[in-house]
Amino acid sequence: RTVYLNGDFLPETEAKVSIFDRAFLMADGVYEVTSVLGGKLIDFDGHLKRLERSLNELDMKKPAAFDDLLSIHRKLVELNDIDEGLIYLQVTRGAPGDRDFVFPDPETTEPTLVLFTQAKPGLSNNPTAKTGIKVISIEDVRWGRRDIKTVQLLYPSMGKMMAKKAGADDAWMVEDGFVTEGTSNNAYIVKDGKIITRNLSTDILHGITRAAVLKFAREAQMTVEERPFTVEEAKEADEAFFTSASAFVLPVVEIDGAKVGDGTPGSVAGRLREIYLEESLKAAV
Ligand code: PMP
Repeated sequence: RTVYLNGDFLPETEAKVSIFDRAFLMADGVYEVTSVLGGKLIDFDGHLKRLERSLNELDMKKPAAFDDLLSIHRKLVELNDIDEGLIYLQVTRGAPGDRDFVFPDPETTEPTLVLFTQAKPGLSNNPTAKTGIKVISIEDVRWGRRDIKTVQLLYPSMGKMMAKKAGADDAWMVEDGFVTEGTSNNAYIVKDGKIITRNLSTDILHGITRAAVLKFAREAQMTVEERPFTVEEAKEADEAFFTSASAFVLPVVEIDGAKVGDGTPGSVAGRLREIYLEESLKAAV
């Protein structure tokens, strides 16, 4: 696989980063994951805008211009012959000469920019769309700035392991009785035809797929309610689903062992998945 590191396209075994890199020592980095379908980038603008926001919130330097990032993405797709898959992009505050809690001077420490591809044949044709997934609920013990897409992913990773141990696929995190989001996705329920998902704040990541799906839902005259919901409410919902750039829209059929609706994927999730795939492919770059 050919990857990108600070201006160079290299074989993955030759891409090396300093042990003093702030992402390695302090999780001082942000990232984005963009899907590739038919060799094209899905929701690229949204991902780049969110990257810019994450960088601003953390006082980090922009590593490259928008146009350059687009051509790096495109070149990696071409070099690795990706038809369906993902592109991972990470920007870190770079590698100062020593470990220090104080941010290094941005004049002398350049950000580290890394991109790599992950081929995922069949990404758009995920069989899980027909079966749905099972989630458990766990306490959300993450920090308070979940709107910034940092590489600080230990708790979401632990949450996935808790889910696996419990025989489920993912975990929905709960704070003060209300679902925040999934370990790597935004959470939704459907009740009496209404699509309910937590409102944007610093409590959740502002999903790029969430924004697109809600826009398409409203355009299709579906009712959307942006507000927190409880696990109990989710268990009594007609359907549940989640969204993310790598999974698009996928149904949730069980929460903490209780069936959601009749325990099969719901029609609203199915319709939203179809619309999302169709519309985002049309707009792919
Ligand atoms: N919430 C969290 C915690 C995530 O990690 C992700 C995936 N990056 C999402 C939501 C979904 O965001 P997006 O649709 O932009 O992938």
